[in-house]
Amino acid sequence: MNQPEKKDNPNKIRHLIGVMSGKGGVGKSTVTYLTALALKQKGYRVGILDADITGASIPRIMHLPKYEMKVCGDFICPVETESGLKVMSISFLVDNEEQPVIWLGPLLSKAIRQFWGDVLWGELDYLVIDMPPGTSDVAITVMQSFPLHGFIFVTTPQDLVSVVVARSMQMAERMKVPVLGLVENMSYFICPHCGEKTKFFGQDETEKLARQFGTELLAQIPTSVELARLPSQGLNLESKLTREVLDQLARATVQKLA
Ligand code: ADP
Repeated sequence: MNQPEKKDNPNKIRHLIGVMSGKGGVGKSTVTYLTALALKQKGYRVGILDADITGASIPRIMHLPKYEMKVCGDFICPVETESGLKVMSISFLVDNEEQPVIWLGPLLSKAIRQFWGDVLWGELDYLVIDMPPGTSDVAITVMQSFPLHGFIFVTTPQDLVSVVVARSMQMAERMKVPVLGLVENMSYFICPHCGEKTKFFGQDETEKLARQFGTELLAQIPTSVELARLPSQGLNLESKLTREVLDQLARATVQKLA
């Protein structure tokens, strides 16, 4: 019987960055999107891979409508937004976004590998990957399947979160993927009425974590109504907060991978 011809992977991706946390709800997907957008705004060619298979939320954060998967020759085409960001998510493959992905390990691993070998990303400067949470086998599959250049770890300044993030950072070390640095989300809150800045969590949890792993704090993102409304209302690109956050993320990422 004839074997199907093995297709060559046509993707040329200069930098693959994984965005990881350890604990759910700290803003990993939000930071993935903001980082990708920040790099796009600097003129780079950027893709986002939503590899958080069981908790895929990138399409919702980016307001992507239900997408009919398209095929480009032997490959799956990613969605391309108006601003030119290429996106792929498991949500595009299920009937509706509330449908759970109840797949066992081997099937999940296969899907992850297809996101690399079967998606026509083309030439990109950065592919930003929203990692599966924690130290699960899916996270390990991503680390083994993608030639990652480094991880950005997202954390919040709470000791409970730091401990769990530290576990994921140790896993990255063991898998020999460099830690590029930490993004502290929900660092502080700026009162929309009086402008006062309040740090309602611990003071220097993230700095302690950075010291422990010999890495650095790349950016601090405040808790804000604007970011809380991102999934429902989108981002105001003109706001001071958005510009500052995007600027920090783009600068730090480009510098760390230079
Ligand atoms: P994760 O991917 O870690 O589970 P998400 O990025 O999905 O986290 O964020 C969890 C929730 O917190 C979402 O509703 C998101 O809009 C909100 N969120 C994230 N970062 C911020 C922030 N800096 N300020 C306000 N809300 C935020």
